[in-house]
Amino acid sequence: MTHPSASRATETGPFRTAWFEVARMEEGVHLVSEPGHVNSWLIEGEKDAVLFDTGLGVANIRQVAEELTPRRLLVVNSHYHFDHTGGNRLFEEFAIHRIGADLVSQPSPPELAEGYMAYTQRLLKAWGPYKAADDLYFHLLTAERMIRPLPDGFDPAGYQVVPTVPTRLLDDGDVLDLGGRKLRVLHTPGHSPDCICLLDEANGLLFGGDTINTGPIYAQLEDSDLRLFAASTRRLADMAGSYRRVFVCHFLRYEDQPGLVREIAEGFQGLLDGEVYLRGNVDCLNTPVKEACFEHFSIFIPAGAPTRA
Ligand SMILES: [Zn+2]
Repeated sequence: MTHPSASRATETGPFRTAWFEVARMEEGVHLVSEPGHVNSWLIEGEKDAVLFDTGLGVANIRQVAEELTPRRLLVVNSHYHFDHTGGNRLFEEFAIHRIGADLVSQPSPPELAEGYMAYTQRLLKAWGPYKAADDLYFHLLTAERMIRPLPDGFDPAGYQVVPTVPTRLLDDGDVLDLGGRKLRVLHTPGHSPDCICLLDEANGLLFGGDTINTGPIYAQLEDSDLRLFAASTRRLADMAGSYRRVFVCHFLRYEDQPGLVREIAEGFQGLLDGEVYLRGNVDCLNTPVKEACFEHFSIFIPAGAPTRA
């Protein structure tokens, strides 16, 4: 048997749409991504399936999930942020960590939706020359990494995330039993207070939510907490023997390995110890941030943060 990450990472499914990319990662695990925006995950057991996040809500993720699996769908949000919960309104039921219940039920500020739509325009503008250079020189882009224009009939000016009320509240240690597959809820606050990861220990899979990412990790938000983030990533790093593949919610590198989680935990510790170099950058809403750069990821903190946190 070849190591899964040494072979081709994905088999493209037949369900690609104009907006969603679907790729089978292994038996019972599908990436349902909005490339360049957010990655949601469909995880199937013998009886039920979990859809981990519902994306931006600019196209119908329920339809895609229901085409992929005949099993009963349990929607679970990694946290309440709009880009992970935008499709909640398409479902009658969904679960979120207890702390996220109020947060996901509140209307999100309109400037968030506006700011994100402006970001999608900048992303598409950057995509043209990036793709052209890749075609000529770099050859890193594969089908599931292609940025797409917003779907036909979607009006960016009318984009808003509808507040939704969860039907099930999750706590750390809860086990979602899908029949032949168990997902353990790990409460990993830091990015937001309600962040969770899902661990499928029997199959060695960690679904990292927004706690683990392969690009900038957002610790600059109003509801972020650097110390909690450091503790959560340390906890995940200490469990690194329990998983072999790590699936994340943002960026085109949607998969990595336990080594990344260790690097991230060390990165946060370095930040707390004031031992990292910080440069200026902006986040996806064009808000100025400080960025701590590491080999395989970076961490955003508020622009006004002191160098020694
Ligand atoms: Zn988030």
